[in-house]
Amino acid sequence: VTDQAFVTLATDDVYCQGALVLGQSLRNHTTSRKLAVLITPEVSSGMRSVLRSVFDEVTEVDALDSADSVHLALLQRPELGVTFTKLHCWTLTHYSKCVFMDADTLVSRAGAVVMFVSVLDVFFSNWATADIGKHLPFIYNLSSSAVYTYVPAFNHFGRDTKVVHFLGATKPWNYKYNLQTKRVMQDGTASGSFHQLSFLALWWNIYSASILPLLEKFQKMEESE
Ligand code: UDP
Ligand code: MN
Repeated sequence: VTDQAFVTLATDDVYCQGALVLGQSLRNHTTSRKLAVLITPEVSSGMRSVLRSVFDEVTEVDALDSADSVHLALLQRPELGVTFTKLHCWTLTHYSKCVFMDADTLVSRAGAVVMFVSVLDVFFSNWATADIGKHLPFIYNLSSSAVYTYVPAFNHFGRDTKVVHFLGATKPWNYKYNLQTKRVMQDGTASGSFHQLSFLALWWNIYSASILPLLEKFQKMEESE
């Protein structure tokens, strides 16, 4: 099924960290679909090299902005204007089917189904057993911070596969992680539940085991140039 793809978006090197963890999590589940990432001109050349080692296709697109500063201010998320850039997904016409996933998601086979919508911290979606009819198509959901659609294209991963979505202003890469103890360090204000912490630990496991070595390798290559 090389004419189908998982697609994500990263408009800067920070969101690229999320895209890389998502891409790696899909690789870990040995997907037969292609992995594509949309980037904007801001993404550094070093980061592009790292992206190319995880994704099949890295496509530069222009940033689209909703310029809806009033509503985004209400959400206290001014950066979300650029999420309209994901509309470029429709230009990947060489695929018959694309599944768009936010860069702050990952796929996991472990854990129980839990939802943290309203606090907007972690959204854990059970795509394989969920009633798809209850979800909105993602196109209707661009500015929403609640439910995203993951269509049955995912079913080949098996029934127990889950999507973890780290909704909200604080993303996994905003936390500190102790590489020795393999623990996510909490600041005093975070009131993380056990599940939230285990998802964060999952993200950081993939990041430290698979992504950090890639970033370090390409950094060394750039330094020696
Ligand atoms: N995004 C991006 N750069 C930004 C903000 C968002 O590339 O500055 C992309 C990224 O793929 C991200 C998606 O747009 O996952 C949606 O934004 P975000 O996940 O931050 O929104 P939330 O899920 O918290 O509503
Ligand atoms: Mn998101």
